[in-house]
Amino acid sequence: MPFCFHKCHYCDFYSIVENDDDRHNHFVARLLEEFDALAALPGAPPLAPRSIFIGGGTPTFLYPDAWRSLARGLDRRIDRHRLAEFTVEANPETIEPPLMDLLVDLGVNRISLGAQSFQPRLLKALERWHDPAGVARAVATARRAGIGRVNIDLIFAIPGQDLHQLDADLDAALALEPDHLSYYGLTYEPNTTLTRRLERGQVQPIGEDLAAAMYERILDRLEAAGFVHYEISNWARPGHTCRHNLLYWHDADWLGVGPGAASHIGGQRWKNAPHLGLYLASRGLPPAQDVELPDPARATGERLMMGLRLREGVALAWLSQALPADDPRRAVIHQAIADNLLEQTATHLRLTRRGLLLADDLLIRLI
Ligand code: SF4
Repeated sequence: MPFCFHKCHYCDFYSIVENDDDRHNHFVARLLEEFDALAALPGAPPLAPRSIFIGGGTPTFLYPDAWRSLARGLDRRIDRHRLAEFTVEANPETIEPPLMDLLVDLGVNRISLGAQSFQPRLLKALERWHDPAGVARAVATARRAGIGRVNIDLIFAIPGQDLHQLDADLDAALALEPDHLSYYGLTYEPNTTLTRRLERGQVQPIGEDLAAAMYERILDRLEAAGFVHYEISNWARPGHTCRHNLLYWHDADWLGVGPGAASHIGGQRWKNAPHLGLYLASRGLPPAQDVELPDPARATGERLMMGLRLREGVALAWLSQALPADDPRRAVIHQAIADNLLEQTATHLRLTRRGLLLADDLLIRLI
């Protein structure tokens, strides 16, 4: 969904500030047309996904009429029998009872709330403008409507943040008893306003040691609270992992629709052009870019990198047949084991706790 109420200065997702209801309706009609074009492809299987994730931008910012059209349209096009998980991303200020009722009718059983922090000063540093108390209201509204599972998205390593404020965010998040938590360190992505401000010296990032201490505090506190740490930045109560995101980390197939949406089918990947105007003006399948079929060595590296993000790691049985004896990545793995960044269990190769802290540098060398 490409629409947002405001463009947060750290965000590098494709989204635009657009609150014209005609444009929202036009977008939904075009989105449904894209579904029809996919279904009409020669040999296309029926649209019967195991999971749906409506994200990007702020889906719950879509006007209610547009949501009703989308709900009716999806209901006619998708066989929901196989659907195990249906997630919608939401910002707390957009959660209203009528919309939640509509989502429950549509089959949505999981909501992912962008809380980011519960400290007004830190929210301001992120350019997020919601009232922190609104997160608790949003969780209660979603649960009252019958949405069974709630994820809370949080960010750490925010300029000006200290460990005391991190603890306060963890306290506030845990008090809401979420089923799942995604906790990402703030990153300075190229071509964002935040990064331009950093380059101009207008933003003071926190130090690497403090960021590492924050991550370790998150690891310890969420483990003590009974959460299963199943991916570098994701924790779940037992039985509540995000099935949809596991598709990405398991290198499985998925289909994305809408401007900027990425797809990955049978090793081939592509991305719809991230441009709403182009998307609306196109017919049938929208213009695609970054169409790639990685060569086998690269595909193995990507699978290794994604699989090691998971706490279970990658299966040794797969690794032994996927990496030829002379593959230089074997030496990287051996050195990483010697450096206590990777470890072998009886069946898997996985990151150590030290490796979790240094994962970005290590994983990039394994592609
Ligand atoms: S609300 Fe989310 S998608 Fe929209 S600009 Fe902010 S971070 Fe990006």
